[in-house]
Amino acid sequence: MAIIKVGKEDLKERDSALKELSEYFSALSVTKGRDITYNVRTYGCQLNESDSEKLCGMLQQMGLKEVTGDTSADIIIFNTCAVRENAEDRLFGNLGIVKADKKSDKDKIIGVCGCMTKVPENVEKIKKSFPYVDLVFDPQQLHLFPVFLRDSIGRKKQLVNISAEDYIVDDSLVPINRKRKFRALVPIMYGCNNFCTYCIVPYARGRERSRDLSEIVEELNRLADQGYKEVMLLGQNVNSYKGANGERFPAVLEAAAKIKGFNRIRFMSSHPKDISTEIVDMVAENPNIETHLHLPLQSGSDRILKLMNRPYNREDYLKTAHYFREKVPNGAISTDIIVGFPGETEEDFLGTLEVVKECAFDSAFTFQYSKRPGTKAASMEDQIPHDVVTERFGRLLELQNDLAYKSNQAKIGKTEEILIEGQSSTAPDILTGRTMSNHLVNFTIPEALKLPGKTADDYEGMLCDVKFTSARPYSVDGEMVKLK
Ligand code: SAM
Ligand code: SF4
Repeated sequence: MAIIKVGKEDLKERDSALKELSEYFSALSVTKGRDITYNVRTYGCQLNESDSEKLCGMLQQMGLKEVTGDTSADIIIFNTCAVRENAEDRLFGNLGIVKADKKSDKDKIIGVCGCMTKVPENVEKIKKSFPYVDLVFDPQQLHLFPVFLRDSIGRKKQLVNISAEDYIVDDSLVPINRKRKFRALVPIMYGCNNFCTYCIVPYARGRERSRDLSEIVEELNRLADQGYKEVMLLGQNVNSYKGANGERFPAVLEAAAKIKGFNRIRFMSSHPKDISTEIVDMVAENPNIETHLHLPLQSGSDRILKLMNRPYNREDYLKTAHYFREKVPNGAISTDIIVGFPGETEEDFLGTLEVVKECAFDSAFTFQYSKRPGTKAASMEDQIPHDVVTERFGRLLELQNDLAYKSNQAKIGKTEEILIEGQSSTAPDILTGRTMSNHLVNFTIPEALKLPGKTADDYEGMLCDVKFTSARPYSVDGEMVKLK
């Protein structure tokens, strides 16, 4: 599989498609007497969210207006995930729902992209069962979306374009419609070479390819100038970053930390096999690097880690976790754990519970193993029965919920800086935000600190100090004591 670098010259056809589509949609808008709208639906991880911001940026450049939440949009793009089977089930369910809308409006366009399209069985299913989907393309070719969209309009047959190559595109050439006023997602690398035996990502996202450091720094400087307070440096394994001149991840983190204006530099994911004490030291020493480490454990059993092709052991993992706790005392560690990997015994699972307890994870994404076609683990013997997996999963959740609650309780009485994310989804007079350590906080604003004439949403992106008063299993409650 080749890796192809895409520059300005290579995007000429994309640019002319963008222009043609602007003209087409402008004429359609006149005919229909209203705005032409789009809705990009995102499944999965932050890298998918970042891809969706690019799709939205291109659609915006065509003069379309974003609508969210319903199926009324003129263009609906499903940006899918294939990491677990339930994401696929959700997509197929939603494709069924939009069928009637598509039937009643011949101008409506439905597209599917994202990791799922790299699994041939999924593409076959879309061709066979959802022929009204207009276009299907893979995440490697996101930059060519306008070309595919243009070519699909007026075409009788479904357009399917899945590449065998991996592309690395100068991201400054792709318009981005960032979803958050304060947080910018910045992929520093794409793809993965690790081939953990359960994981579809290396097949779906292709080989590892890193953006040039100079290009990343230019983007970060632009974001700081635009007033972004938080950046999230993204990659399947940020520690594998390798710039054109051999630069490694610490160089990216250092460059980001030096840029004035960023209050929080977040990064994920770190692979336990590659993370160095240097990164932890940088977290401890730089006040604008988050005091949070996302370090996926997957399993606490050395035997299972080996079967998973995760080249570290329980002892290595614990060493890193303890080093982080020692160097970053007010920090937080989060993790990913898979329960029920093929061959997992009760003893293996108890090993996982032990590591979870010892690390006292502040939060965790816990998953039941999902068999992914084409991965090595899918053909392993000794797949674990569903009832055993759910029973173990319940025990893990109980333990982890207790640890998360304790982590939140430990905040009570303290005052910390919060970056405000907006209004709480459950109560209009409560704001929500995060600490430097990524703890979720819901808080009230006393009358004296309220900004006259402002709604809760106007506080998005502002910084404030919050005194924590009580804890919940997944969040901390508090009261604002100072708006900055
Ligand atoms: N690159 C990241 C890393 O290695 O930590 C993870 C990316 S993956 C999108 C996010 C998480 O999904 C993984 O850490 C793993 O816990 C989970 N995952 C991946 N494949 C899975 C599978 N087949 N079944 C269950 N969970 C899975
Ligand atoms: Fe998947 Fe492993 Fe790569 Fe993470 S490191 S994306 S779990 S193959």
